[in-house]
Amino acid sequence: MDQANIVIIGGGVVGCAIARALSARWDDVFVLEALPKIGMLTSTRNSGVIHSGLYYAPGSLKAKHCVRGNQLTYEFCRTYGVPHRRIGKLVVASSEGDFEELKALARTGAANGLEGLRIVDRAAIRAREPHVEGAHALEVPSTGILSSEDLVKAYARVAVDHGAHIVKNAKVSKIEAVRGNIRVLSEAGEIEARCLVNSAGLFADDVAALLGSDMAAHRIYPVRGEYCELVRAKQDWIRGLVYPMPHPQGLSLGTHFTKTLWGNVLIGPTARYIQDKNDYEKDREPVEEFARHARLLLPDIEAADLVPAFSGIRPKLTPPSQSSTAHAHSKGAPDFIIQRDPQFPNVVQLIGIESPGLTSAPAIAEQVDELVGEILA
Ligand SMILES: Cc1cc2nc3c(=O)[nH]c(=O)nc-3n(C[C@H](O)[C@H](O)[C@H](O)COP(=O)(O)OP(=O)(O)OC[C@H]3O[C@@H](n4cnc5c(N)ncnc54)[C@H](O)[C@@H]3O)c2cc1C
Repeated sequence: MDQANIVIIGGGVVGCAIARALSARWDDVFVLEALPKIGMLTSTRNSGVIHSGLYYAPGSLKAKHCVRGNQLTYEFCRTYGVPHRRIGKLVVASSEGDFEELKALARTGAANGLEGLRIVDRAAIRAREPHVEGAHALEVPSTGILSSEDLVKAYARVAVDHGAHIVKNAKVSKIEAVRGNIRVLSEAGEIEARCLVNSAGLFADDVAALLGSDMAAHRIYPVRGEYCELVRAKQDWIRGLVYPMPHPQGLSLGTHFTKTLWGNVLIGPTARYIQDKNDYEKDREPVEEFARHARLLLPDIEAADLVPAFSGIRPKLTPPSQSSTAHAHSKGAPDFIIQRDPQFPNVVQLIGIESPGLTSAPAIAEQVDELVGEILA
């Protein structure tokens, strides 16, 4: 049986960022990834936006990790050649009635330490985005876009350069505490570690249950987000990142427009609770529905201008029954859960790492590095 200092379950962006941080300090770091490649799930099925930290309750882990992660992600991308661009975004209030809410959003952003926020008028919106309709907009300069596939690979590459082992096709099926260590059985064999990190994304609650941890009670509810793309002939209708006001009772930031690094424009993601954590396609929303939502900001859009694109699944902690009262991106939304397991103190659990997890990954890794330092001290 292999011996390790640290086993990380999950080779998504968060697991790989953690592996990179921990392997700089510790030998014998292993990442066990169920699938044949790293980053095949939520980590590459997303908008690829480097978020600023605008929406999250001041003082929350989401706010802290997103703001710090924004800075660290830009630094990492520059250092390791990950394709990215700091293009800024506009949050558009389509009617005068949304003005107070837009100002409140700007205050939350300022409380989270964002710099350069500015409310602009219709003429300024038009100058920046000639096809977008809105009364006012909030300019957020620190938002950007990146290639999430390249980001995951780069975190993993640096971890491997530090000596970490990334084991694919290694789905974990059994975990037990033995003599102060944690024994993990996966498709790739058995390994015993002094410390375990559960970074299994959508399946983090299932992994906690394998250990017999009470933290498995933090159940993950899969919420699918689907995207459409603008047809090539209309791609220049959107130049940057354009968001509506976040819906006060929604599960997402609202149907927004994302110009990718490759010049295409994503519309979405939608938000719908599903039963199966592996169901990316069943009963997809018709393009007419996307067009209906998108028309709020882009009045000339027709269903014929859209083609269906990929989808991703959010690991939500809010059950469907409470979703109308727990605001996803405001003070009522559940925070990231990142802590040592009270029953198994040499296990670090990460549960509910939804958006802005891509951006926050390097800051989450710093927190996990501290927790692991306490365990292995
Ligand atoms: C539609 C959508 C849009 C988003 N847009 C953005 C955005 O623009 N910006 C942003 O910052 N965030 C965004 N996010 C959030 C971000 O994508 C996630 O927070 C982030 O990818 C989570 O990464 P992860 O490593 O925790 O999870 P994952 O990518 O799910 O990785 C977990 C890994 O664990 C593995 N695993 C699971 N169970 C086991 C097991 N038993 N044994 C071994 N391995 C296992 C899985 O195979 C998987 O590879 C978005 C999310 C969605 C769904």
